[in-house]
Amino acid sequence: MPKLKRHKNLIDTAQIPNSVRRIVQKLLDNGYDAKLVGGCVRDLLLGTKPKDFDVVTSATPLQVKRIFKHAQIIGRRFRIVHVKSEIGVVEISTYRKTGIDRKDPATPTRSLVRSPKQVGTMKKDHLLRDFTVNALYFDIKRNVIFDYVGGLRDLKYRQLRCIGDPETRFHEDCHRLLRALRFVSKTDLKLTEELDRSLHSQRDLLQHLEPHRLSYDLEKMLLHGYARALFRNFAKYKFLAYIFPEIESNNALTLAALKNTDQRVKRGKPVRFAFLLAAFYWHHYRDLNIRNDREAEILAAKKVLEIPSQRIALRADVRDFVIETWRLQAKLENRPLRNGKQVLQRKRFRAGYDLLCMRANLSDANQEIASWWTKIQEVPETEQEQMLKEVSPVRKRKSKRRRKPRRTSQQVIAASS
Ligand code: ATP
Ligand code: MG
Repeated sequence: MPKLKRHKNLIDTAQIPNSVRRIVQKLLDNGYDAKLVGGCVRDLLLGTKPKDFDVVTSATPLQVKRIFKHAQIIGRRFRIVHVKSEIGVVEISTYRKTGIDRKDPATPTRSLVRSPKQVGTMKKDHLLRDFTVNALYFDIKRNVIFDYVGGLRDLKYRQLRCIGDPETRFHEDCHRLLRALRFVSKTDLKLTEELDRSLHSQRDLLQHLEPHRLSYDLEKMLLHGYARALFRNFAKYKFLAYIFPEIESNNALTLAALKNTDQRVKRGKPVRFAFLLAAFYWHHYRDLNIRNDREAEILAAKKVLEIPSQRIALRADVRDFVIETWRLQAKLENRPLRNGKQVLQRKRFRAGYDLLCMRANLSDANQEIASWWTKIQEVPETEQEQMLKEVSPVRKRKSKRRRKPRRTSQQVIAASS
């Protein structure tokens, strides 16, 4: 039987945003239990700013939805409801009592969403969580932490420890292998010896990663300022072979894109998983060497994107972003430059330009051309016009000779593959 320990006044509650307190208070006012749990409690205790706040409650998702009118039942992983607040989305999950919704995390069953009979307690719920440091429950009002599994002790000694036997827990859900590396990359926690051994011995389970969850996990893991450390750990534990088998762990463009992403996060600039993908698979697209044929370029890009799609579910907006960023490379590099003004106004111009600069730094693109694009964004409009004129094609009179018919896109791809 787990032994519960209560610890008082370890957290400065002033660090908890008012919007989160209001959500918790509203649940309490409606007669339900509500506590903070997971990463926010862990991070507050580690002295770092939580990325987001997770609430756990005795209310079913439907009951939560009745309290927060604009809430959205998500049903990913656990029975989760998203409530929008001033600090972003707060995830409210219902206490679980069995691992019943592990099988297909994307589809909650009706009974799980509706029935109070399915609602567990803190005492049962904590056993279904992954690591001891993620199973600390915080009662804001009384400023008490509830710890069943020695999470506080592990935090003190900076240890990441599985709740229960790691092998069993990884067999239940192989995404926990990724989560383990996420937490050691993000925090200064170290894996326990047992966990470290299991990450090596159980990595083959990663062949069962679910494509939709993997895409969600990757966005969560790579866009919060520790992408480079995580990638290093993926390489160290040989996880890359299951996620990005085509990517060399020392590929210069990949490393540059990861570093750049981390730096942008630190400066508060927007980051995208799609940009990383564009960098990771750029050389696959480049080597097809297709230029100046819209249809052929799109076909080629789609063909390349089939490679990661075997493992990662890529949303349409992610694909479009990658395709556009790749296609922009030729447009940016072309000299003479056609329709320069339009190129500057393209939706993904900035991403295309960023990739071009990274490539130029690695001698994969012309440095002078990259600098030219840097300059044109900085000068006033009149000077821009002049710069564009200087590199535009010289207009020729139309010749009467008929052009050879263009090859179809399929012919171009077939010839290049
Ligand atoms: P972060 O600060 O990066 O959000 P987190 O620990 O809060 O880290 P979440 O993915 O937000 O991570 O999950 C919230 C909590 O839900 C976790 O702390 C953990 O207790 C539990 N959890 C999430 N995913 C799993 C899983 N696959 N298996 C077991 N427990 C999980
Ligand atoms: Mg969280």
